[in-house]
Amino acid sequence: MTSVAPAANQTAPLYAQVAFPVHLNKAFTYRLPQSLQQVARVGSRVVAPLGTKPLTGYIVALLPRLRSGTSLIESEIKEVQELLDVDPPLSTEVLEITRWVADYYAAPWGEVMRAALPAGINATVEQAVSITERGRETLSNLETSGPAKARTNALQLLAAEGEFELNTFCLRIGAAKTPQWLREMETAGLIERSYRSRSTVTRVKRRKAVRLAKSEGGESQSGNKRMTPAQQRAIEVLRVNRDTMAVSDLIKSANISDSVVRTLAKRGFVTEFEEDVRRDPLSRAELPNAEVFKLTNAQTLALRSIEKRLSEGLFATLLLHGVTGSGKTEVYIRAMQAALDLDRGAMMLVPEIALTPILSRRLRAHFGGQIAIFHSSLSKGERFDEWSRLRSGQARVVLGTRSAVFAPVQNLGVIIIDEEQDSSYRQEESPFYHARDTAIVRAQKESAVIVLGSATPSLESFHNAQGGKYEYLHLSERVANRPMARAEMIDMREVFARRKKPAVFSDELLSAIDQTHARNQQTIILLNRRGYSSFILCRSCGESINCPNCDVTLTYHQADRTLICHYCNHHQRAPSQCPTCASKYIYYVGEGTEQIEELLRQHFPTMRIGRIDRDTKSRRHQFEKTLLDFGKGELDLLVGTQMLAKGHDFPNVTLVGVVSVDAGLALPDFRAAERAFQLITQVAGRAGRGDLPGRVLIQTYHPHHYALRHACAQDYRGFYDEEIRHRRNHGYPPFVALALLLVRHKEATRAHAIAHQLRQALVEANRDHACRILGPAPAPFARLRGEHRVQLLIKSRSRKQMRVVIDAALAALEKSGQDLRSVTVDIDPVSMM
Ligand code: ADP
Ligand code: ZN
Ligand code: ZN
Repeated sequence: MTSVAPAANQTAPLYAQVAFPVHLNKAFTYRLPQSLQQVARVGSRVVAPLGTKPLTGYIVALLPRLRSGTSLIESEIKEVQELLDVDPPLSTEVLEITRWVADYYAAPWGEVMRAALPAGINATVEQAVSITERGRETLSNLETSGPAKARTNALQLLAAEGEFELNTFCLRIGAAKTPQWLREMETAGLIERSYRSRSTVTRVKRRKAVRLAKSEGGESQSGNKRMTPAQQRAIEVLRVNRDTMAVSDLIKSANISDSVVRTLAKRGFVTEFEEDVRRDPLSRAELPNAEVFKLTNAQTLALRSIEKRLSEGLFATLLLHGVTGSGKTEVYIRAMQAALDLDRGAMMLVPEIALTPILSRRLRAHFGGQIAIFHSSLSKGERFDEWSRLRSGQARVVLGTRSAVFAPVQNLGVIIIDEEQDSSYRQEESPFYHARDTAIVRAQKESAVIVLGSATPSLESFHNAQGGKYEYLHLSERVANRPMARAEMIDMREVFARRKKPAVFSDELLSAIDQTHARNQQTIILLNRRGYSSFILCRSCGESINCPNCDVTLTYHQADRTLICHYCNHHQRAPSQCPTCASKYIYYVGEGTEQIEELLRQHFPTMRIGRIDRDTKSRRHQFEKTLLDFGKGELDLLVGTQMLAKGHDFPNVTLVGVVSVDAGLALPDFRAAERAFQLITQVAGRAGRGDLPGRVLIQTYHPHHYALRHACAQDYRGFYDEEIRHRRNHGYPPFVALALLLVRHKEATRAHAIAHQLRQALVEANRDHACRILGPAPAPFARLRGEHRVQLLIKSRSRKQMRVVIDAALAALEKSGQDLRSVTVDIDPVSMM
């Protein structure tokens, strides 16, 4: 690839290389028409024909001549049709980082660039038809009746009314789709088609405003006529509002009609103008008072280390390992402030911002208009405005979720990744990328400092800190000497033995809820459910069944009563007895949040109960409201999935109960134990954050499981030591690099055939055995959206060689005529589901 630096003012470029947001791993060369040669910039969007259709793409390089040795033939090169930006929306830094993502994750560059821009800016193109000179000449000679009548009518319509959008035009001439004869007329040069970006593209919103004229000279010019009381009122109100106001506001405040404003303007008392309106996602939010704490010693030490690195102006990664409630947020805020003080920008990423309305308000209270807020539930307009404020340098700090890693923050000085272990930093669709890892590379490219914060660092990050790759900062205690929450396990095997039937709630949990409520304190009830998978769990001894090769849970397939490993395709019959304790099997399928809520209402009819889960998440305001209501004490109990465990700070919550923690432990994923550990630790951190001590109850069939034992003891180190041993023994990250290759096809036989062919190609490319190739095996979701899914898992000690093998195999597959669109490459997969 060529350099992505903007074209210098040497010879104007004749060709542009364009990447499109489609599933293609290459850029295409186009000729630039004369009119665009001076104005085209790397990072700008263009419309150009790809195949038969015009498509929006991004200029990734400009060339004064074709590369020597290229196979392109001058006469076959198509032309760029339209330039959509004069100012490239992708800055050089952001373009660089998208290129890294495309390279590292083997993702189409165009898709990454699209993901890097706010949704509203992704213009689509529409086609317009108009009549040509030739068409007009012909028009007079055409018959107005007979078989050519339709053509004549069409031409007449175009001659009379000018240009039409293609679909509208077809409707006008009574055709459902573009008729063949219209294409013939185009070929004959009677009409022509053009392409333009659609007008619904998100733009700056504008409104009318007025400003008080400078010297009140207006009066003399307009002949000293006296003002009406309404006019006087308007002038008064304007003065009070520092001389400028939106017209609509002025009309409301001064209680006047709009004709008053028009007259004042005509008489020269005020000038009218248009101003940009900022769509502010927090415009109606109540902001908390910005509290000023005296930092604890541990906080001070951590902050100093970050500031020291900042002042060096070099790239550095720091791991801030702070127990829940140790005051990490305060350290983040001050680190970002320190970057601003050095005249540099700051970025903070959080896993899911809709969950933390309190955090965004707190940061807004601290940083005011300097901060831009990005997250998945902003409207297109809000998103575009926040993005524009960063691009222009008006805002210098960004708070956002995953995709905010591409935010155009200028002169980035510090990046904060809160809850760095969280799997939502990973995008689980193309382009696959991990925002934390991308942020580290971005920090490196921009000589910035990056702080990874967590109470439960990912194994990978802690391993890097152990090896000295990251600087390790530790906050080992909660602020203000608050006690660590205790977590206790409730053994559901005993509950089962006592009651002789499966129970959702143990008596212990029910009475704890009752007591908490009686003390006027709040409870959170959590379910651990990620995705859905059926597995076998013995209700007597708590064991599930693992793959002998892979150390992950086998998944139960009801249709043929088999257990299958989704990594290596090991099959075995589902036994009829527990292999550990010989008791009979019970298929465990976890309850949903709705059922739990219903059951709780039956048990506690007088309690005010709220629920939050993925279903309610789509309704953003409902979701936020439930959280804010709970924070205000208007709800007694909140039920939800694991997302409730993240980052909230509710001081009056003194009880957290986890129902069915086992559903997560038994996922067929080598990270299942790590996730369960993280969940319990985080959950424990939700209880007793105020001055009241907290209690955490975990219901489980696995009380002996090491992840649960260490989590209950709040012993990160103990868990890490045990888990890292497993990873080393079984060959999982951080000791090997992984890639997951997924083959999707409507026909099962095709999916399997392609997967086997892919395996063959991989084996051939893997002559020196740098990789272990597992599968093909059915994916955990073996059928999704009408497609059959088969996967291959690749492990290697050398990431580089792994890529060489994959790239060679895919190239061989493509050469054999296989369409690569049915294969997705997932480098460093996070969720193995
Ligand atoms: P963490 O993110 O590490 O879980 P928070 O940053 O949410 O912890 O801090 C926990 C609580 O302690 C918050 O209510 C916060 O306002 C408060 N806090 C943070 N730092 C201090 C301090 N230095 N003195 C007093 N209270 C603090
Ligand atoms: Zn058993
Ligand atoms: Zn296996």
